[in-house]
Amino acid sequence: MRERGSSLLLVAIVLLPAVSGAAAGVDYEMVVTLDAEQHRLQARQRVHWSNTTDTPTAELWWHLYLNAFANDSTTFMRELGHRRLRFGGLGGETSWGWTRVTRMVLTDGSDLLPSLEFMRPDGGNPEDESVARVRLPEEVPPGGSVVVDVAYEAQLPSIIARTGFAGDFHLVGQWFPKLGVFEGPDGWNCHQYHANSEFFADFGSYRVTLNVPAGWVVGATGIEVSRTEAHGDSVPGLQVVYAAERVHDFAWTAAPGSLMEIITADFEPGRDLPRAWLERAVAALDLSAAELELPPTRVRLLLPRSQLRLAGRHLRAVRLGLAWLGLWYGPYPYPELTLVVPPLSAEEAGGMEYPTFVTGFSGWLTPMFVLYGRSLIETVVVHELGHQYFYGLLASNEFEEAWLDEGLASYAELQCMEAIVADDLAPELRWGGFWVRERLGQSMLRSRVRIDQRSWEFQTPRHFFAASYGKTALSLRTLEGLIGPAIFSRAMRSYVERHRFGHPTGDDLFAVFSEVADEDLGWFFQQAFRSDAEVDWGVLGVRHHGQEPLSGMVSDSGRQPPEEGIVRASSAEAWSIDVEVGRRGDFVGPVAVELEYEDGTRERRTWDGDARSARWTIDSGQRLERVVVDPDGVWALETRRRDNYWTSEESSRAARRSLWWVPEALHWLGLVHLPWS
Ligand SMILES: [Zn+2]
Repeated sequence: MRERGSSLLLVAIVLLPAVSGAAAGVDYEMVVTLDAEQHRLQARQRVHWSNTTDTPTAELWWHLYLNAFANDSTTFMRELGHRRLRFGGLGGETSWGWTRVTRMVLTDGSDLLPSLEFMRPDGGNPEDESVARVRLPEEVPPGGSVVVDVAYEAQLPSIIARTGFAGDFHLVGQWFPKLGVFEGPDGWNCHQYHANSEFFADFGSYRVTLNVPAGWVVGATGIEVSRTEAHGDSVPGLQVVYAAERVHDFAWTAAPGSLMEIITADFEPGRDLPRAWLERAVAALDLSAAELELPPTRVRLLLPRSQLRLAGRHLRAVRLGLAWLGLWYGPYPYPELTLVVPPLSAEEAGGMEYPTFVTGFSGWLTPMFVLYGRSLIETVVVHELGHQYFYGLLASNEFEEAWLDEGLASYAELQCMEAIVADDLAPELRWGGFWVRERLGQSMLRSRVRIDQRSWEFQTPRHFFAASYGKTALSLRTLEGLIGPAIFSRAMRSYVERHRFGHPTGDDLFAVFSEVADEDLGWFFQQAFRSDAEVDWGVLGVRHHGQEPLSGMVSDSGRQPPEEGIVRASSAEAWSIDVEVGRRGDFVGPVAVELEYEDGTRERRTWDGDARSARWTIDSGQRLERVVVDPDGVWALETRRRDNYWTSEESSRAARRSLWWVPEALHWLGLVHLPWS
């Protein structure tokens, strides 16, 4: 057990630049005032950017994300089409969002604004103003830095893509002019805001002064460092200052105290870490309990007053999530975590991640509730906490490799949820089967998809979601089955530890796995992530041929010539059995085949899967009762398993009465799998 004092000490450590990793690239100091009537922000920011590459640059590229919601022809809105983002969407007269930069100067007074030009690196849509470039009077050399003062006005949209307002509730994300990532010779990585894609930015420190109406509650990235409430002034208001170190974004929420309540709690490992989980992690990771020790974390829950009865479930989910993720991927390194549950009118803001700040979800009149049922609250919290690692700490490029964040967060979510149910840590949740559901969801896509694509290049949004979430999670699950859970867990942990604050790519992930597994796993990664190869095994046929009694002579002793009188008798039943297994998909890999005989004995064989099919001829005194390809379900990527089973006639009559048709029926019903971000 730890005392309160140690978490305060931790705050001090985290505020100092003591979190190891690559050098921070950009720092923001901001002052922003919310006009709660107009849902408009008046803001200024001082941005300190360092060129950490070996290449000079005379440009700065900015994301103006809110401009994605400025009209119906932006790249974001065109890609969105008539589809609504889950529950929300733009409509009405005051609901568009935009950013207008009114001042951009260097500290020496150089005015950059006249050079501001909107850029469309991902296609020349002239209506899109979500990326802007300015020219600098001089190059910033390698190791050099530049300080820019920016003033801007921003209109929040009615809530869309997890940002904006609904009534008095404000969830403010992607709201400030934000620098892209300078990648040296490759220039600025600064993509337009796309309907499917999320974000990419350098790490840095943020110090943000928020001015909101008096009596409002506020939550934000980082920790609150000061608070002043002015009552006597002409405009009474609340001023709260937040600070965050080593993060790559900043989001906040504000709403009247009559609507939202703040509940403060904590994650206390001595109390909240399930003993069984610790033991399992010690065994699999080959680390001691001391090496797996986790720090305490302060938790702030912002919840609609109408939903206070759900506070316990949200907090329990946060504690279990921090425990599971901390054990398997290393400690959550920030002192505080904020969970915001939007009111029902703002559900579009639910299920989103920002550094140290996530939004949950408690709605039940949604497609997601149909899919996830009662576990929706826990599933969303755990998923978003997973992002604290893959999005928050690792910060891969979500425009170009969205799966590195969403897919790994989905894998973590499914594993953690299975563990919560298996260990009965949330008694309301009686059914697990999270992986089965994921598999069913994947089988509904009904077409092939390659995971490793840039997020706006997928054929349809459905393909994007299926690939980046479910298929990635199922690919990792398959790899876990192939290399074993212990090696898999060690590789995942090494990946997270090695690439903290490092913006890893898919190649980095693959390299860590091959290294830890001590074998080249390129064959798997290439097929699973960089091709649309499908996994589909099957039993092609089983034929029994009754063997005639042997005529002539054969030596049982191996002696030559055979001695007369030792001809093998064939009075017992004898069968020559042809077993043919095959793959209808083009994903090649080793797969186990189990043969079960009439007397219940079982035999395992491994087929390398290289050819389209393989035929084995087996001589046996018994008939086969059952043949199963992939009997342990190692190939989680396989969505059509119905043909993996062969049974003798009597058993197949029983099988016909079983429920094999359920997944097929769901598939044909075309139920859409709707994951969140
Ligand atoms: Zn997500």
